[in-house]
Amino acid sequence: MTLWEKLYLPEVLRGMAITTGVFLRNMGKWLTGRKGAVTTYYPEEKRADFAPRNRGKHILTQRPDGSPQCIACNMCATVCPAKVIEIESGFDPNDPAHPKYPVRFEIDYSRCVFCGLCVEACPEDAIRMQQDVPDLVSEDRYNMWLTMDEMLTWKPQSDVAKPYPPKPVPLTLSANVQRGRQSSKP
Ligand code: SF4
Ligand code: SF4
Repeated sequence: MTLWEKLYLPEVLRGMAITTGVFLRNMGKWLTGRKGAVTTYYPEEKRADFAPRNRGKHILTQRPDGSPQCIACNMCATVCPAKVIEIESGFDPNDPAHPKYPVRFEIDYSRCVFCGLCVEACPEDAIRMQQDVPDLVSEDRYNMWLTMDEMLTWKPQSDVAKPYPPKPVPLTLSANVQRGRQSSKP
């Protein structure tokens, strides 16, 4: 450390000058009614000017019959770094294609860090995050759980950013490959 750095006082004064400058700039914006100067008083005031890439609310996608696309595999809950997803699964023997389904699917928004890893991990495109903010204002953290009913209120037809993946096309072999396979048979 140089003697100048050991004195500390110049750096303290420099920090105070930066803070005062920002304060005066914001105060000037506030006095002249320009945006970006003061904190939004949430929940009385709500912002609508989110960045286009903002994703603040989870949704569960649905099959054409309205049932959740989720197969209760728990991959999202396993990958979640904050461990805030809770899933209770049910079993339907009459649906061999999707025998497992979620009976309860909840996310604790008091601890979610909105990292999006749950969306990335899902093998069924069953959970997504949309450009919205849930109305979960509370002084009690136990009231800040996003429920399955709330996540299923999403209207699939209004989502155009990430459509359902296309149905897989059955593999067809070209005539050459088929001939090759025939000729290689003993
Ligand atoms: S966004 Fe991240 S923290 Fe929130 S539920 Fe998904 S994986 Fe967990
Ligand atoms: S949302 Fe996706 S990853 Fe999570 S349990 Fe359902 S199917 Fe599995």
